[in-house]
Amino acid sequence: MNHVVVVGAGLAGVRSVEALRARGFGGKITLIGEERHRPYDRPPLSKGVLLGETDSTVVDSDLDALEVDFRAGVSAKGLHPGVVETTEGELAYDGLVVATGARPIRLRGDGPQHVVRTIDDALRLRSLLGEGTTVAVIGAGWIGAEVATAARRAGCAVTVVEAADTPLAAALGQVGAHTVPWYAEAGVDLRLGTMVASVDHGGLTLADGSAIEADVVVTGVGVRPATEWLAGSGIRLDNGVVTDEHLRTSLPDVVAVGDCAAWWSRRYGIRLRVEHWDTALGAPDVAAATLVGDAAVYDPVPYFWSEQFGHMVQYAGHHDGARLVLRGDPAAEGKPRWAICWVTDDDRLTAVLSVNRPRDLVQGRRLIEGGQRLDVDRLADPAIALRDC
Ligand code: FAD
Repeated sequence: MNHVVVVGAGLAGVRSVEALRARGFGGKITLIGEERHRPYDRPPLSKGVLLGETDSTVVDSDLDALEVDFRAGVSAKGLHPGVVETTEGELAYDGLVVATGARPIRLRGDGPQHVVRTIDDALRLRSLLGEGTTVAVIGAGWIGAEVATAARRAGCAVTVVEAADTPLAAALGQVGAHTVPWYAEAGVDLRLGTMVASVDHGGLTLADGSAIEADVVVTGVGVRPATEWLAGSGIRLDNGVVTDEHLRTSLPDVVAVGDCAAWWSRRYGIRLRVEHWDTALGAPDVAAATLVGDAAVYDPVPYFWSEQFGHMVQYAGHHDGARLVLRGDPAAEGKPRWAICWVTDDDRLTAVLSVNRPRDLVQGRRLIEGGQRLDVDRLADPAIALRDC
């Protein structure tokens, strides 16, 4: 293999370059990305950047030392066997890494709606947040909650409109209800069970015909894998680029990583597409191994975190129909410290959510990886360390 092309210069793309070199690949590597920036981290965009604490989140990676031909502002438009079609002509490859991430979903309407996906989005939005500005955030998911946190800190009047009957419903189901009081405490007007019909000039129109006036509308209703450029290529797509447990796609010498990849999880026996930083960080090493012919399997316990309304929220694992065990009191005075464990029928931990209890996350993640049976009665006692359950 002489030439590897990496499409998408986000975290998964740059990590793929690093992993190829770390595995001894000495051939040519070309990294193309449609943004005109060096690869950067996205988690701080809705946190430190919006809060005004930082302006740059560029990934600490020495592209010169990696001897990568990095082409910023170049998009892939199509894929044929052995050739990526780009906005600057054709690029022949022997190996290809698809790392094009995801794009935010926008809602109907001709009013301006902001999203937070890129550093440009975050800086633009930040410049609009100020004392007395009215902000409507659509979606009480991870991004919506973090944007609401930053907007309140900037002195804005914030309304969050959520179609489901709890925040974080897509990720956590009813467990997300425990975060409802955080909105009121932060002075945010949270409207649950409320559908937006359209984003208009001056605010939102709701499905019941009423309106919410806002100077700034931020849409945070999720993302879709950025795979439109692969249409017609013959690669298998199904909620992202379908891969096996080695991150190999249906096309020869093509692997996929990060937010755009729907990989087979040996651990959970299902296909997962995880739109979180830890996946973009960890998957590229397996993808690089696959390309250079080393044997490796991608089988992590997925992990993510969110910082919202002064709370550190962390989650590891995957839950599906497992029963819940609560540790601690979510309604406790002051800063609550609690966790929820998802436990299988045979008493094994399958997922853990921790709020201001980072040790539960670390220990819970190890228990999920280990797969041992637990004493569920002890699990419910927050005074007992998870590793001793
Ligand atoms: P991306 O970071 O999306 O990078 C893909 C790159 O490919 C982009 O630059 C894109 O422009 C480019 N591209 C797309 N199509 C093409 C094309 N056709 N040709 C060339 N280039 C293309 N995760 C957490 O775990 N915790 C958090 O707290 C957290 N906070 C987040 C906050 C925000 C605001 C956002 C947006 C994400 C957050 N995430 C968080 C998720 C995490 O950042 C993503 O999972 C991670 O960025 C995925 O990396 P990626 O490289 O797969 O995709």
